[in-house]
Amino acid sequence: MTEPCFGMSKHRVTVDNKRIINNDRTVDCNQLVPIKYKWAWNFYLDGCANHWMPTEVSMQRDIEQWRDRNGFTDEERHVIKRVMGFFATAETLVGNNLVLAVYRCVDNPECRQYLLRQAFEEAIHVHAFQYIVQSLSLDEGEMFNMYREVEQIYNKDQHAMSCTSSVLEMNPSDLKTREGLQTFIKNLVGLYVITEGIFFYGGFVTMLSFGRQNRMPGTCEQIQYILRDESIHMNFGIELINAIVDENPQVWTEDFKNKIIEFIKSAVKLEGAYIKECLPNGILGLNVELITEYIQYLADRRFERLRLPQFYGSSNPFPWMSEIIDLKKEKNFFETRVTEYQTGGALEW
Ligand code: MN
Ligand code: FE
Repeated sequence: MTEPCFGMSKHRVTVDNKRIINNDRTVDCNQLVPIKYKWAWNFYLDGCANHWMPTEVSMQRDIEQWRDRNGFTDEERHVIKRVMGFFATAETLVGNNLVLAVYRCVDNPECRQYLLRQAFEEAIHVHAFQYIVQSLSLDEGEMFNMYREVEQIYNKDQHAMSCTSSVLEMNPSDLKTREGLQTFIKNLVGLYVITEGIFFYGGFVTMLSFGRQNRMPGTCEQIQYILRDESIHMNFGIELINAIVDENPQVWTEDFKNKIIEFIKSAVKLEGAYIKECLPNGILGLNVELITEYIQYLADRRFERLRLPQFYGSSNPFPWMSEIIDLKKEKNFFETRVTEYQTGGALEW
């Protein structure tokens, strides 16, 4: 972990000396250029092109529907509250992990440029759930304490963050040991692959199913923007993990690969337990079996990207989710507004 200081030197940064982590004195972590990791810079540009703010989305129809006594069944209200309760703190947990644990260890400037952008997006996501909770007059105490009070949510957060405190306590030299680096990589998997790549999707698919029925359109529009941001976060995270492994191949032992596989498989089980608590009897178009199949399908995709063997062989029961993730310049499927929110300079038409 390079200190932010710099000293007098006549040596300039040589691009070939740059590394993702453990940069030595020949590399200055304050110099973005020359860029070595173009993929990291491109993720930063993609993130900036997707800028949005929660308060630009109207919550009027959601408020009317939520107030209507016949608008939702008890089970529908239960699952919506569970999804909001999970996200209300999950986005903050991700932001804190990123800024306090990950940023210290990744001392490459291109990657840090993206991490700073991602950190701001996490703040926007925290804002989005605060805005939804406030608009719908949900019980704030109930929503923001759910990760402490609902066992299935507590278990998910504990699982994903099982290595975070060790990374927070690390000394710079620990990343140079195999065990230290493995702990750090496991924390990256917990954040990018498990939290953002698996745990978020039970909530995404549930809320977007309501959106497909024109229910909770404002909430779902925000969830669509969040899903788009999160898929970039996860893709960056997997590139980051693979790049660290490529530069430090000694960490990627058979034993460690098996630990990562078990870590992800346990996450799939915990997501299944959470979904079961959220949707004990199923609602229109959704039930525990279908969502479990979807989560297993996603886990296989994540294994594939991490160059690990696939395990489940499940098919995707919600092909419309892929359409949303891939949705670019089309008007969105709720027909409220153009989904690809881009700041003026990035628009192509
Ligand atoms: Mn987020
Ligand atoms: Fe994220």
